[in-house]
Amino acid sequence: MPETAGIHHVTAIAGDPGRNADFYVDTLGLRFVKRTVNHDDTHTYHFYFGDRRGTPGTAITFFPWTDEGRQGEFGAGQVGATAYAVRPESVGYWRDRLADRGVDVTGTERFGEPVLSFSDPDGIGLELVGTEAAAEAPAEPWEGSSVPADHQLRGFDGVTLAVAGFEPTERVLTDVLGYEFAGEEDGRRRYRTAVGERPGTTVDLVGTDAERGRMGVGTVHHVAFKAEDTDEQEAYREAFKDQGLRVSETIDRKYFHAIYAREPGGVLFEVSTMGPGFTADEDVEELGSRLTLPEWLEDEREAIETALPAVETEVAK
Ligand code: ZN
Repeated sequence: MPETAGIHHVTAIAGDPGRNADFYVDTLGLRFVKRTVNHDDTHTYHFYFGDRRGTPGTAITFFPWTDEGRQGEFGAGQVGATAYAVRPESVGYWRDRLADRGVDVTGTERFGEPVLSFSDPDGIGLELVGTEAAAEAPAEPWEGSSVPADHQLRGFDGVTLAVAGFEPTERVLTDVLGYEFAGEEDGRRRYRTAVGERPGTTVDLVGTDAERGRMGVGTVHHVAFKAEDTDEQEAYREAFKDQGLRVSETIDRKYFHAIYAREPGGVLFEVSTMGPGFTADEDVEELGSRLTLPEWLEDEREAIETALPAVETEVAK
């Protein structure tokens, strides 16, 4: 059975695209590594924010539906929080930085580590976890960030999934993706993969009595896990099928290949290859500086650009 090295990316639905970019670039200090369109809905942007080169395990991505888009409703079968790892010494920096910018921050401790919890402007739950493992993260500092290199986000620590019952989701984590139960605290069940070490290898399950959530602005669309290559990805496909789950064909997302399956708890899982990465169509120095389109949409560029919403942003021109 394959064993994922952890989270590849997290994709959520935002409202206004400019506000979304300003928050992730200016407030959180991530790099705007790719601006393209949703290949399945070319009237919608697809923004990627990550480390200097959008290394797998650092990129949070958005479909900004604008403020006219359908609002999501949080509930069972959804991602409750997406956590980034920072150095333990950086937690105070981040608490001050977020508070200075008017972001409501709650500080707690979890499994012995400090956690800052807050929401992005659309209500998407975020956390910063102060962890020694941040020093081992593959994230590359971005020299253009407004956050000093030592304090920059070091890639994902993990995600928290809200589910009606633990068992069906746990089975997919352990029997498809290779996670192992790692502990329980205050009703939160933690799973880790061994191969990936930390950060980015944690999935927490928390129970909820809420109805199934509704995908829309302010909710996470899917969580993607790492596959080394397309061969390993095929092994995950078979493992999903063995669980009786429907799994998509392999889809070329230009920067990686992806398969999708909805786990029985309701969360859409993706398994994505490590390559070819965001430098497939831009030099690392130029990442995110223009609208990129895959070859199969390039002929439609003029129509696509005309239909996209305006992006009013302070930092991500
Ligand atoms: Zn994805």
